[in-house]
Amino acid sequence: MRYSPLVDRVAGRGSGAWAVHIEAGRRRDAGEDIIFLTVGDPDQAPPSAVIEATVSALHRHRTGYAGILGFPALREAIAARVAQRSGQPCAAENVAVVPGAQGGLYCALQCLAGSGDEVIVAEPIYATYEAVIGACGARMVTVPLRPEAGFHPDLDAIAAAITPKTRVIWINSPHNPTGAVFTRAEVEAIAALCREHDLWLVSDEVYEDLAFARPHVGVWSLPGMARCSVVVSSLSKSHAVPAFRFGWIVGPPDLAKHLFNLLLCMTYGGPAFIQEGALAALKQELPEVAALREDYRRRAEMMSRLLSEAPNCRVTPPEGGMFVLLDVRGTGLSAEAFAGQLLERERVAVLPCDGFGPSAVGHLRIALSAPDSRLADAGERIVHFARTLAEGR
Ligand code: PMP
Repeated sequence: MRYSPLVDRVAGRGSGAWAVHIEAGRRRDAGEDIIFLTVGDPDQAPPSAVIEATVSALHRHRTGYAGILGFPALREAIAARVAQRSGQPCAAENVAVVPGAQGGLYCALQCLAGSGDEVIVAEPIYATYEAVIGACGARMVTVPLRPEAGFHPDLDAIAAAITPKTRVIWINSPHNPTGAVFTRAEVEAIAALCREHDLWLVSDEVYEDLAFARPHVGVWSLPGMARCSVVVSSLSKSHAVPAFRFGWIVGPPDLAKHLFNLLLCMTYGGPAFIQEGALAALKQELPEVAALREDYRRRAEMMSRLLSEAPNCRVTPPEGGMFVLLDVRGTGLSAEAFAGQLLERERVAVLPCDGFGPSAVGHLRIALSAPDSRLADAGERIVHFARTLAEGR
């Protein structure tokens, strides 16, 4: 039997990365005590107000179909929060509720780009971006985030990558996997390119609440950008609820209309009880979010300090997000070989980033998604492994 050409377009690269993750899972299931730092799955408890609202909604049988773009009260709460944070007008008509930021990126790109179009994105990319762009038939054009620039965007390279076929510039700050938090000047310069060339600016702001080196600059806050900005975010990281699969898109009202049609034939709306839980998270700024940010800031600092002792390795202390990037090129091992041996010898699972773009070759991504003592243990084991390599043991 034959499959659609889509199946090839969504088969992304980076399979080496997942090989370590899968092997670590196999070992854990077989009873080994693995410190699992491959994915950004928060270990903290979600805010109790969110859980209580979700459970209460279930008890009240909020189990029917919900609005295709989300309940009106929820869309209004998201719009009010965006307006409050950005200082720019935002109404319910600008908002669509989607299945996580991942589902949001997929749906947004489906509506913005198609066959023959080009989408500019900085590499290293987050693992799923290539397939999202492939799924809509567009071509991914990458520009580097260079390690020597702290993985900040090269604005000249972005400008030079624009062609008559470009439809979208897609940014992500705080950035996964590098931890860079783009400066206001950088985000403004990218926005100016979009205005000048009539391009969409898609901004993946899933880590918006986890910026620590400098304030996060949301693209909705930039004047004159409401026409061409598409912001995608979620509760997954900020409220430790990735299983909710709850996210949102903020963009022009016309985009929300197109998203309505797409979601109608795709999800027919998200779960009603999850939307009630999300409303509890979004109608006010919960103090647990600041506590979570402080967790990641403290963990990032601790892990960066520990890893600075690893011979022949170079750590990039993150400016935000929930990962630390470690350059292991100096050890003589590829990132994949380093991660494989680290799992075997030290029982620590981290992600080799070779598949995420040329700028990440030889780097490991270490998720800060474990309690402090486990993370400290993992950091020491990584340093120990690097020492054994350096001493030829
Ligand atoms: N974008 C980035 C950069 C991410 O790291 C992730 C999750 N790891 C997502 C999007 C998807 O998040 P969600 O759980 O909200 O779908």
